[in-house]
Amino acid sequence: MNRNIVIVGGGHAAAQLCNALAEGGAGARVHVVCEEATHPYQRPPLSKSYLKNPAEALQLHRDAPWYITQGIQVHLGDRATHIDRSARKVRLASGTEIEYESLVLATGTRARTLPQLEGPLANVMSLRNVADAEAMRARLRAEGGGRLTVVGGGFIGLEVAATARHLGFEVQVLEAASRLLSRSASPELSAIILAHHQQMGTEVRFGVRIGAARIEGGRVLALEVDGVQEHVFELLVGIGAVPEVSLAQEAGLEVANGIVVDEVMRSSDPAILAVGDCSCFDYRGQRVRLESVQNANDQAKVAAATLLGKPAAYHPTPWFWSDQGGLRLQMVGLWRPGLQAVARPGPAAANGMSFFHYDGELLVAVESANAPIDHMMARRLLEKGASPTPQQVADPAVALKTLL
Ligand code: ADP
Repeated sequence: MNRNIVIVGGGHAAAQLCNALAEGGAGARVHVVCEEATHPYQRPPLSKSYLKNPAEALQLHRDAPWYITQGIQVHLGDRATHIDRSARKVRLASGTEIEYESLVLATGTRARTLPQLEGPLANVMSLRNVADAEAMRARLRAEGGGRLTVVGGGFIGLEVAATARHLGFEVQVLEAASRLLSRSASPELSAIILAHHQQMGTEVRFGVRIGAARIEGGRVLALEVDGVQEHVFELLVGIGAVPEVSLAQEAGLEVANGIVVDEVMRSSDPAILAVGDCSCFDYRGQRVRLESVQNANDQAKVAAATLLGKPAAYHPTPWFWSDQGGLRLQMVGLWRPGLQAVARPGPAAANGMSFFHYDGELLVAVESANAPIDHMMARRLLEKGASPTPQQVADPAVALKTLL
């Protein structure tokens, strides 16, 4: 019988899976299908150092010779277009067909778009991959300090806003909700983030409704913002991402807000697994989909163990980070509305602050701004299931490590 493990995707999850399978001695069974023309690479720098510095090279997880040494066959610049579950075959856009014993979908997400700005427009950008980052890098250089409008005050929008300020751009952030990062951060942390961006000189507007666009010669010249026409020079759309689930859907797998997987990453067809941003799973009784490097890496390790015949359940302590200019945000656990926030001052010199979020007496999530040591300790507390009292964490004189 065919023993191929076929991985569809070229992000962090696919890279980590190659790593773990190679370590487990299964490299020679692996095919990776990457739509992009490059081997898997580090994505977090794309909105930050890579964008700022025209000389910065792409950081590959592993270089091409490594894949060859491991016996991993990489199909670059090709995409999977169809899964035949009964014949256990994947068809690629090039016409190639690959048989599989196990298939792993690591297809990630694609950027949400605004319908009035669809189609290629020279001055409208989004940021998901290196092609987007390269185009943006060139535009932000070519402009050499101009005006950038950012639609969406989420992670991508705010990271790029901070980078563009650094490059000398006038920046305006247009957010539909009533605060920044409302999907994933608490109101307490949002307030700190807003103050930081305002201090950097970025204009932030809330409750914004984007209307019609005036498009001429392949560029957007103006956008209706809250009913008023406003000039547009450069525009970034950072309004979130949708999971790439079309292959899974067409193959009849169970899909919700992502491809539904069990605790060892199997989809509704046990021969097909899903990992990373495209998967959704049960976390403490709730179905969640996480867009983070931690989740991609850890799910890939769990999937590798399943494929190597040593399944071990995924019980994560999710964590995230985002760098926005001089502001380092780190989160552990999942914040949700209704939790009680307790503030803990961090290093005064860095203007640090953490928020410990409680559900009754249970510590559920901790967010830190410029307080990396408190973040590391909070991770250890949550990993251990420890719940120090609000009085303990609120007192900066109490070292968190004594509460472990
Ligand atoms: P991303 O990965 O793009 O950073 P997030 O979910 O972190 O995604 O952030 C997306 C942000 O965009 C959210 O704050 C959301 O409220 C905002 N948003 C979504 N749709 C619109 C819109 N039409 N106009 C302005 N902001 C929007």
